[in-house]
Amino acid sequence: MVVFRAVSVYSIAKAFLWQSVCYLSKCAVCSMPCQVKPRFVVLYGSQKGQAESIAEGIAESAEEHGLFAELSCLKDNEKYNLEKENAPVVFIVSTTGDGEPPDNALQFVKRIKKKTLSPDHYKHLCYALLALGDTNYANFCNCGKTIERRLQELGAKQFYATGYADDGVGLEVVLDPWIEGLWAAIKEALSKMSADRTGYLKGEAGDSPNEPPHSSIADVQLNLLSITDHQDCESIRASVETVSKFATAASSSASATQIAVSDLGPAFPAGSTGLAFQSHGTASVPTSAPETEAGDAGVPHIALAASLTRSLPPLSESSLNVPAVPPPYLDVSLQEVDAVEQIVGPLKKETLHEVPISRAVQLARGDSVKTALLLELDISAHPMMTYQPGDSFDVFCPNRAAEVEDLLHRLDLHDQRDHQVHISLRKDTKKKGAQVPSYISQNISLLYLLTWCLEIRSVPKKAFLRALVEHTGDSAQRRRLQELCSKQGAADYNLYVRDPSLSVLELLTAFSSCSPPLSLLIEHLPKLQPRPYSAASSCLRYPGRLHFVFNVVEFPARSGRPAGRRGLCTGWLFDLINPVLVLPEKAESSGSLALPKIHVSLRPNCSFRPPSALSAPFIMVGPGTGVAPFIGFLQQREKERKENPEAIFGETWLFFGCRHRDGDYLFREELEGFVSSGTLSQLKVCFSRDDQKEEEATLSAARPRYVQHNLLLNSQHITDILLKQNGYLYVCGDAKNMAKDVNDTLMEMIKTELQVDQLDAMKRLAELREEKRYLQDIWG
Ligand code: FAD
Repeated sequence: MVVFRAVSVYSIAKAFLWQSVCYLSKCAVCSMPCQVKPRFVVLYGSQKGQAESIAEGIAESAEEHGLFAELSCLKDNEKYNLEKENAPVVFIVSTTGDGEPPDNALQFVKRIKKKTLSPDHYKHLCYALLALGDTNYANFCNCGKTIERRLQELGAKQFYATGYADDGVGLEVVLDPWIEGLWAAIKEALSKMSADRTGYLKGEAGDSPNEPPHSSIADVQLNLLSITDHQDCESIRASVETVSKFATAASSSASATQIAVSDLGPAFPAGSTGLAFQSHGTASVPTSAPETEAGDAGVPHIALAASLTRSLPPLSESSLNVPAVPPPYLDVSLQEVDAVEQIVGPLKKETLHEVPISRAVQLARGDSVKTALLLELDISAHPMMTYQPGDSFDVFCPNRAAEVEDLLHRLDLHDQRDHQVHISLRKDTKKKGAQVPSYISQNISLLYLLTWCLEIRSVPKKAFLRALVEHTGDSAQRRRLQELCSKQGAADYNLYVRDPSLSVLELLTAFSSCSPPLSLLIEHLPKLQPRPYSAASSCLRYPGRLHFVFNVVEFPARSGRPAGRRGLCTGWLFDLINPVLVLPEKAESSGSLALPKIHVSLRPNCSFRPPSALSAPFIMVGPGTGVAPFIGFLQQREKERKENPEAIFGETWLFFGCRHRDGDYLFREELEGFVSSGTLSQLKVCFSRDDQKEEEATLSAARPRYVQHNLLLNSQHITDILLKQNGYLYVCGDAKNMAKDVNDTLMEMIKTELQVDQLDAMKRLAELREEKRYLQDIWG
């Protein structure tokens, strides 16, 4: 009896472990379990879909590497169980806002941060982590770093070095080699985990004379064997897709003499999956790049410049490693209906408020400055929109009607623009965790889909370019698309697609022989996102009103974009308010025009708030439209001063900067009024493009041009406020340059004032962040 029980426990444990590390795949022909694939888990947290699509790519590639991936979003905690997980776990997480976890990872991070968890809570866990971030923002990869720190504090073991991919320079710089090395690391982790378990089980089995001790080893060997077998027969073939050398796409007509990349059929089996990173010594066919191309008049001329559609040697002559075709997963059909309900505006209206624009003022004037506008919204009928200074709110804007029309024409679907769109999952899809996008509602028209659901301006990712190759007829264009999504073409992708923020329409216009089906666009274009704006007013000063300011973003014409265009939301708002716009020189708008309405929802920001203690001093740094929230702070403070005449108020400093004193000094009168009333103790303004007057130049050193120069000039005061008086420092505006420069300057100031080294200054700054006394609200 005792013996029986011991055997039983052993078998159950073995079966459990076996099931948890391996997955029996079924034969496609006979549906019988035929292959054992070791399993691992992929968990992602993603705000805009990048981490999600990388996680999906890894899950899809697993099979080619003889592995089985279980893919889940971190929010779906019923689908995974880290407390019991004994297969390797791969985390792919992005960071959003001021270093916060993406929405769908918030609860997970909260759970693992619980102080009650014991230090060996995740002792059994083996993990690898890829953190996505952007060095233009503070707290680079903060969510990934937080998860990693907690995993380690809770005893988890890392089986592969963490990757920190930087969207600021291109994720692929870190991403590609990280994924390349991941497979071997997973297999090594699996071997080690199996060996550890075998040791463990052998120890257990020692109690059981009836169980042959080697049986567990056999299981492990089978497990490992399956990895090797599979690799040999299948994975290597499928995981690498190497396109042979091919002469420049510029010479499309001469392509007959070159290696036909249009022969890609066999090299790119539809549905083969995974990201390919290794070169497998492709046989190179010697080709010489043509130095000339036929001009319009048939006269050959020297092809000097590379462009979106044309490459130059060495790229045009290289063998290429391109990703495998992303597996299609949606079936899309269009159905003619008698009458389609004409929906205007976003569909999910529960949390949205349709509010009128009650005033629109142009704040900046002159040719050499950006167009800055102030809009006032009438929120009096929407108590849920009551905001605090520091809050922002989302504006829901549609895609540009003209672009939607052009896209419909380009897809040859213009006649079906009012047809109803039906989307379902392809039954035979190989895409892991495929789902019909939740943000696309039922019964909408094609026109509505392209206007309100998909971000048609989003920059096509490499996987999208790869998928487009399959729908491109012209061989030179196919080759160029392959280059742009290949490892070798990474620099060209950045230069011609990513940096100029090319849209799919611009791409399809340049690649005229590409005719993708609608389903491909739905699979690859992300959800149309609302644009956040900071409140630039206080409800105390303007009850029932909400102000915001923005610059109209301009994208100049360039290769692949024959005409310049405006930012999606700022361009749309500009067109919308144009008829009611108050120009700087005019006093008021003509009141007779109907006020346009927009859809908005509130985004409360619990930390970017003026200090609750009235006596706490604070410093605000907000050049350009970054001044927006501080106008709200100061309006509130002015009201508080009136209501509390006896109270002691802390000092308030504002550092503002713009190009020209007479061009884009936003809120000049209001700011000077705050100084006169004592609400603002110090207003420090600098102008980056105004010439320094001669007498000024002779009297003093160079005038400060940027906010950080002014900060430096007031170093002692600022460090006093921050380090001795427990004060606060707020930074708002451009993330790409200003916020970084301000951060570096603060570090220098702390170094000097406290006489400490770089490391200590960094620590002090990090402490200020932790204490929520150094706060940022930055974008760009
Ligand atoms: P899109 O068509 O989305 O193009 C944006 C792209 O243009 C960006 O990817 C970037 O590469 C480029 N770009 C060039 N200049 C700018 C720029 N000045 N801002 C952003 N992107 C730029 N903007 C304001 O003007 N005022 C605000 O008060 C404000 N508050 C914000 C608060 C938060 C919390 C966040 C996250 C952003 C805020 N923004 C603010 C930025 C705003 O949400 C939009 O990104 C911006 O107005 C551009 O939107 P768009 O649709 O016109 O441009």
